[in-house]
Amino acid sequence: MNKIAMVDLKRQYEKIKPEIDQAISDVINSTAFINGPAVRAFQEDLEKYLDVKHVIPCANGTDALQVAMMALGIKPGDEVITTNFTFIATAEVIALLGFTPVVVDVDPETFNIDPDAVRRAITPKTKAVVPVHLFGQCADMEAMLEIAKEYNLFVIEDACQAIGADYIFADGSHKKAGTIGHVGCTSFFPSKNLGCYGDGGAIFTNDDELAKQLRVVVNHGMTVRYYHDYVGVNSRLDSIQAAVLKVKLARLDEYAAARNRAASFYDKAFGNHPKLKIPVRFERSTHVFHQYTLVTDGIDRAALIDFLARRDIPAMIYYPVPLHLQKAYIDPRYREGDFPVTEHLCKTVVSLPMHTELDEEQLNYITTSVLEFVNQ
Ligand SMILES: *Cc1c(COP(=O)(O)O)cnc(C)c1O
Repeated sequence: MNKIAMVDLKRQYEKIKPEIDQAISDVINSTAFINGPAVRAFQEDLEKYLDVKHVIPCANGTDALQVAMMALGIKPGDEVITTNFTFIATAEVIALLGFTPVVVDVDPETFNIDPDAVRRAITPKTKAVVPVHLFGQCADMEAMLEIAKEYNLFVIEDACQAIGADYIFADGSHKKAGTIGHVGCTSFFPSKNLGCYGDGGAIFTNDDELAKQLRVVVNHGMTVRYYHDYVGVNSRLDSIQAAVLKVKLARLDEYAAARNRAASFYDKAFGNHPKLKIPVRFERSTHVFHQYTLVTDGIDRAALIDFLARRDIPAMIYYPVPLHLQKAYIDPRYREGDFPVTEHLCKTVVSLPMHTELDEEQLNYITTSVLEFVNQ
């Protein structure tokens, strides 16, 4: 049996090696390492794939979120609402820019931001809401858009874990994650669903004016060469990463299908177990399974992870600590117990290996091992 990894980038690479190696070598031979034609080509492919007017490539997903917030003209002291159950980057950029992060609890079924909690958190200072499409499926975007319209807020989608997922509107129409709100952000970190071989990110919008401003902000706030009308940042996707991403984007749907096959295998094995809760599919979204995350109630999670590790099966906790209990984000407004759903999830979730290369032998071994532990 092949060694089991949380994410197996090696075997994925082996299958596309000739194409990837050629693409990288083409960039090296061109020496157009920054803003080369490879970046433009990938940008255009991604605009087509997402059916969005503008893709602005940048250096990573954290920058994408920061640049989006800078370009929208949110001011220090303004409040930005986001989910308490996410990777730190979402709240980090809000705090870094001097805005006030306001965290809210999540839906216990989908783990995504709870629209009612968003409503309750709105004040006259609220300027934006940042739904995160956690683990690969979309948050309740129609609810977000409705709230945003009612209170005149920006919707900034953190689609770092959900590129390729479709949001399905009540009328049956579809839009890709990250293209529904005012602006969407993604990461091309190697282990993400569309990962490069280093760091990368992108920002999406259908708004021409905002796109112009986003391009200014990522490029040192420069409007005309060496004329800087804004304080910006330097955030670029390099050409080698873009060349890798172009090859992998052509396979993104195939990769999502492979992840869904693995998820179905897990579902079948764990679906009827009283101590394991399998991921709940939100009826308004397809799922691209960035993570396959079980909720374990009434079992010793640390012992399970230990048991699996002894069998060379990795398992991870995404995420062990809610934002409001992170040392750097301790805030007198919040106490332990204020966010019961997030706090419960942080104590009970466990994510199993999930990637494009899992085979039946590995899945069998993983599911048998998990069941052996929980049934003992
Ligand atoms: C990965 C991730 C980010 C940050 O992306 P980087 O490219 O690592 O900066 C932000 N938000 C979420 C939800 C993520 O999963």
